[in-house]
Amino acid sequence: MVSDIQNKVVIIGGGLIGKLLHLMLISRGFDISHFEKVFKEKNRTFALSPSSVDWLRSLELPSLFFDSLTEVKSMKIFDSTISNSITLNAEDVTKPALAYMANEKDLNEAIKKKLNKKTNFKKILSDFVIQGEQDHVRLKLSNEQHKASIIIACDGSKSLVRKKISIKSSEHDFNQTALSFELKVKAGKQNEAKQFFLKDSILAILPIKKGIVSIVWSCSSQFFEKLNNYDDEAIENELNLIIGKFYKEIKIVSKKECFPLFMNRVEGIFKDRVLLVGDAAHSIHPMAGQGLNLGIRDIIDLERIIDKRDYMDIGLKGFLRKYERARKEDVVQMGFLTLGLNWIFSNKSSIVSSIIGRGMGMVDKSKFLKQQLIKKAIS
Ligand SMILES: Cc1cc2nc3c(=O)[nH]c(=O)nc-3n(C[C@H](O)[C@H](O)[C@H](O)COP(=O)(O)OP(=O)(O)OC[C@H]3O[C@@H](n4cnc5c(N)ncnc54)[C@H](O)[C@@H]3O)c2cc1C
Repeated sequence: MVSDIQNKVVIIGGGLIGKLLHLMLISRGFDISHFEKVFKEKNRTFALSPSSVDWLRSLELPSLFFDSLTEVKSMKIFDSTISNSITLNAEDVTKPALAYMANEKDLNEAIKKKLNKKTNFKKILSDFVIQGEQDHVRLKLSNEQHKASIIIACDGSKSLVRKKISIKSSEHDFNQTALSFELKVKAGKQNEAKQFFLKDSILAILPIKKGIVSIVWSCSSQFFEKLNNYDDEAIENELNLIIGKFYKEIKIVSKKECFPLFMNRVEGIFKDRVLLVGDAAHSIHPMAGQGLNLGIRDIIDLERIIDKRDYMDIGLKGFLRKYERARKEDVVQMGFLTLGLNWIFSNKSSIVSSIIGRGMGMVDKSKFLKQQLIKKAIS
């Protein structure tokens, strides 16, 4: 029989991953205490992989959310010359879409509706203490204590929990900043995403609704300095030089947000009944639009291992080791993929550039290679 303590889970961090993990765990009968630093909802747009969307469906979120998704049916990838490209089509792998664009606010709304009304998210300051014991772990706050079988940290890439329990992490600074905003456009193929691997930046254009696309522009420090001094009109002019032949009458229609880009590798994902999930365990370059998907796959693997029912107590080392093994390959592969792509495409050598150009031509002609690329991208 599962004891009260074995059933008790503390989650720290209420971003999308923390909230989705909460939903999964209550569906498995766990008793959750959930803590968050700031209750401020963001309004970003994410590319979700088909398998992430399938899993969200399994949570039985309200259908309104799924109706709000925009299908990405094809993706065109360009090199810096913009004359070489690869086109990936969902129909090449007989799928309805390569990805689905989701609005963070819509997803948060759907999660809120699904969560029990009694669900209580509590505010936490940074002076908490975590104390691991043999059969439980304690979260000590200034005025109260919470005893649980496990603390799961979903507090993002700069995880304070990770620091408090002394899990070392190494940061790779890409020396890039991502600029993100929405653009009103005319023409352009509906439901097609485009990605330009340019000399000083990687420009991703993602369809979010008719006539509106989301821009994620990952810029080298120098190029970002330049853009940061521009007003909207100057940025639109700069964009016109790159995408003018695909999109007309472009206009920035949202606030611009900046994200410094780095990658985090942690030396372990658990210690003494404390587990890291989502960006707290791995943060990667956004070029592949995979960070959130990777966090969702963390939860899917956790759910799968819980469902095997080999362990009554999910804070036990055996359970956590099993989970760590299950996640290793996916996380390492995605880290290498984004690191490698960034290196290849930001390489200034003309030899490398000409190899990229020829390579892209070859891949674009091979249905088999494109199918393999798509299969990895939509997993
Ligand atoms: C420009 C850009 C575009 C992206 N596009 C995509 C995409 O298209 N597809 C995709 O899959 N991924 C994308 N990502 C990655 C994605 O944003 C992240 O992987 C995802 O948001 C991570 O979710 P998380 O809940 O783990 O962390 P976060 O979203 O960082 O949430 C962490 C939460 O913890 C809270 N917190 C922090 N510190 C504490 C503390 N001390 N105590 C309590 N709570 C705390 C924070 O307030 C926050 O609510 C993109 C990233 C960037 C930068």
